[in-house]
Amino acid sequence: MSGNGIGADDALTVLGLRQSEIWRLLAVSEAVRRRFKGDQVRLCSIVNAKSGLCSEDCAFCAQSSRSTAPIDKYPLMEEERIMTAARDAKQRGAREFSIVASGLTMRNRRELERVGRAISRIGTEVGMETCVSLGALGADDIAFLLSRGLRSVHHNLETARGFFPRVCTTHDYDEDIRAVRVAKAAGAWVCCGGIFGMGESDADRVELSMTLRELNVDSIPVNFLNPIEGTPLYGTSELTPFGCLKIIVMLRLCHPAREIIVCGGREVNLRDLQGLIFAAGASGMMVGNYLTTAGRPAEEDLRMVEDLGLGLRSL
Ligand code: SF4
Repeated sequence: MSGNGIGADDALTVLGLRQSEIWRLLAVSEAVRRRFKGDQVRLCSIVNAKSGLCSEDCAFCAQSSRSTAPIDKYPLMEEERIMTAARDAKQRGAREFSIVASGLTMRNRRELERVGRAISRIGTEVGMETCVSLGALGADDIAFLLSRGLRSVHHNLETARGFFPRVCTTHDYDEDIRAVRVAKAAGAWVCCGGIFGMGESDADRVELSMTLRELNVDSIPVNFLNPIEGTPLYGTSELTPFGCLKIIVMLRLCHPAREIIVCGGREVNLRDLQGLIFAAGASGMMVGNYLTTAGRPAEEDLRMVEDLGLGLRSL
């Protein structure tokens, strides 16, 4: 409740609790969320503006060079298609819209300018906060996008440093750390988290959480592995709904004042316990479709928020 958050030992204890012990803890995490984030939750939405064709080999990703998943592959969308996606997201109740592109980084200046024009129009014509997830952007590129009205830069670490080589071998962890530091230094709101359920240990999960604290990230997106056929991690998921809730609780207690946004894999991993994510400490969730998989209808998410007595919040 001081805002400092629990340490690594206590975080590990949380992840080791039995299912019967979680219920009491939800009362604690809910109180922490309420104190720092209130009862208004944040909904964000994304467009996969450039899909597949990635040089990287991230084992969880259907767009990677190792994946044989039958996904749509296309270069950067035209500006109007991005605008249509943003308007659709606003209708779904989302307050923030993220333009996501596959690949290690967006180096092509014409593509970056197209994204910049879309950001500017989404702010003025649609009235949404904007975010980009374009790989490891340089300081100049972030400054350019901020000058167009960008609010947030998203770049996940995915997992702990020690486990990362089991997931990705085509770039190293330090490149991702550097990308986050560059975005922070450029003055962006930084959204940085990871994916859980890839075979990492509880200690790895806590290590990621502590690294996010060191980096002073503003928002933590929490993804739960949805193992897609054709990716190396297909058939490997060992997450349970209560296991997912414990991860959210751990993150909320480590990061009392940060945004914790539940993103991909929510429906398949939490199933009927999705409504408990806010008691566990989430302050927001992604609505609509994910990068290569479909989310559930927005009306169901909006009804869930309303049934829980929660409201919707801007950044
Ligand atoms: S997570 Fe990003 S960098 Fe990794 S394979 Fe997928 S699109 Fe490429």
